[in-house]
Amino acid sequence: MINELEKDIDRVLFSEDDIKAMVRKVADEINEDYAGKKPLLVALLKGSVIFASDLMRSLIIDCEIDFMKVSSYSGTQSTGVINIISDIRTEIADRHVIIVEDIVDTGLTLSKLKHQLASRNPASLKICTLLDKPSGRKAAIEADYIGGTVGNEFIVGYGLDYDEKFRNLPYIGVMKNS
Ligand code: 5GP
Repeated sequence: MINELEKDIDRVLFSEDDIKAMVRKVADEINEDYAGKKPLLVALLKGSVIFASDLMRSLIIDCEIDFMKVSSYSGTQSTGVINIISDIRTEIADRHVIIVEDIVDTGLTLSKLKHQLASRNPASLKICTLLDKPSGRKAAIEADYIGGTVGNEFIVGYGLDYDEKFRNLPYIGVMKNS
């Protein structure tokens, strides 16, 4: 069968094997840092679901997962608040929390989310992202666990969408005309 999505992809940036290696790398770091600590992964919907699933499967420590959906930062930059569309149900006071994100671009969403979650008094709060786009940064925030780095291009696949499309692409690619 013909892959309906590939006609819109210009080139592959990270193959399935590349992605496996990136997941392995961050999972190894988390396995080591959180041994015996039972961290809570807070996966940000929708983009991080595929990464979060693969990451969790690669962890050999006791851990839990919960999900959160926040609105895009547009329009709220000056207010310093983000709109939580769907919150986690898990109480995070005294828990070790790892926010799981697909890609950090401006960093505005994460810097505000981190601030909000920190006010719930977790034992620790870290950020794990599959990809980092440092050229887009507007907020002073860095992820603690980073799978790989990308330049200033719009990428899709492996959870990352364009208008809800391409999330199911098993690799990460650059769209045509992007
Ligand atoms: P920011 O760091 O700008 O606050 O927000 C990051 C979010 O922007 C990511 O979670 C993702 O949803 C979206 N984003 C940033 N760069 C890209 C990209 O290259 N491709 C896609 N599909 N989404 C992106």
